[in-house]
Amino acid sequence: MELPRIVVAGNGQLGQMLQQAGAPMQLQVQPIHPIGDQLVELRDDDVISVEIEHWPDNPVGDQLKGHPNFRNASALYAVIDRQRQKSLLDRLEVPTAPWVNLDSSSEDPSTSLASLGEAAVVKARMGGYDGRGQWRWKVGDDCESEWDGNCIAEAMIPFSHEVSLVGARNAQGEKVFYPLTRNWHQDGILRASITNLDNDYSQQQDAQSWLGRIMDDQEYIGVMAMECFVVEGKLLVNELAPRVHNSGHWSQEGATISQFELHLRALAGLPLIQPELRGEALMYNLLGRDWKPEWLNVTGLNVHWYGKEIRPGRKVGHANIVRPSRTALIDSLEQLRPLVDKSEEQVIDWCLAQL
Ligand code: ATP
Ligand code: MG
Repeated sequence: MELPRIVVAGNGQLGQMLQQAGAPMQLQVQPIHPIGDQLVELRDDDVISVEIEHWPDNPVGDQLKGHPNFRNASALYAVIDRQRQKSLLDRLEVPTAPWVNLDSSSEDPSTSLASLGEAAVVKARMGGYDGRGQWRWKVGDDCESEWDGNCIAEAMIPFSHEVSLVGARNAQGEKVFYPLTRNWHQDGILRASITNLDNDYSQQQDAQSWLGRIMDDQEYIGVMAMECFVVEGKLLVNELAPRVHNSGHWSQEGATISQFELHLRALAGLPLIQPELRGEALMYNLLGRDWKPEWLNVTGLNVHWYGKEIRPGRKVGHANIVRPSRTALIDSLEQLRPLVDKSEEQVIDWCLAQL
């Protein structure tokens, strides 16, 4: 069976996990750092995907983008710039947080901000992640000091919680989706995700129809994630990620097909079938900390370590816990509690509160 090689622009954990997902099928996945002068050897039948959305112009990055099988150029173009992304969502009538453009022609940003209400989140158009490139504004705040003229602003959304939908589409337009996953962010960084909590049919249908519409519009191939706020039981889209996503990591052990394999299947033209849950699953992000061998005593827990240098707040790994029932998942969290640092017990508490 001849499969194409999947070349992934980016050299972080997502590329690494895509590589791991390809291994059992001997599907070759080659992550390449898309920055550099030394051109790389690409074959005509390689398929090029990304694990990062944006990189500065340079010879290797341009070479990857210039390959005839570079996938999803249009979605990347739309998503890397928050203004284009919000405009795409508006065009497709996908509900999102009310927003305004804050470009250099906005003489007085305070007036634009005030049009959004009492409070707003200002986001750099390009380059932000994990809550970086954002600041919060409320009526009376001076915004000149932080405003650099290349931002959008969104109304501050009083959400009850945050969820995300991860889905995949192939070249034939077939689509599959995981259940909505509930996410907890602290200071803009994802701490934990629990899937399939609510089983809310109308939320799931809304989310699938929006993400499906977006992927169809962009003729997207592969996995895309959509982050949403839940406000009074209804979804409002926060943002899109044209790649595998942190909130889908639970699917590595929690589903019959992981988001990484799903992405590869879509890119390689392999069957795209509906993944099924293997149990109740959650994901716990390891931020700026090492892991401990004792954690492997926790029933249903698997560690994924990225092999990166540990720096404060940096995503360096995650642990997935998958159990046959919610009661069993609660039991595993109680097993884990005495093994984590005091400051991390709040993550366990959040998970328990959801279950
Ligand atoms: P990611 O790491 O997911 O790419 P990011 O840095 O791109 O994150 P966002 O997802 O836009 O940024 O924001 C990070 C978090 O900040 C959100 O998950 C949410 O908790 C909070 N947030 C963002 N926008 C708003 C908003 N309009 N109202 C309320 N909270 C918000
Ligand atoms: Mg986000």
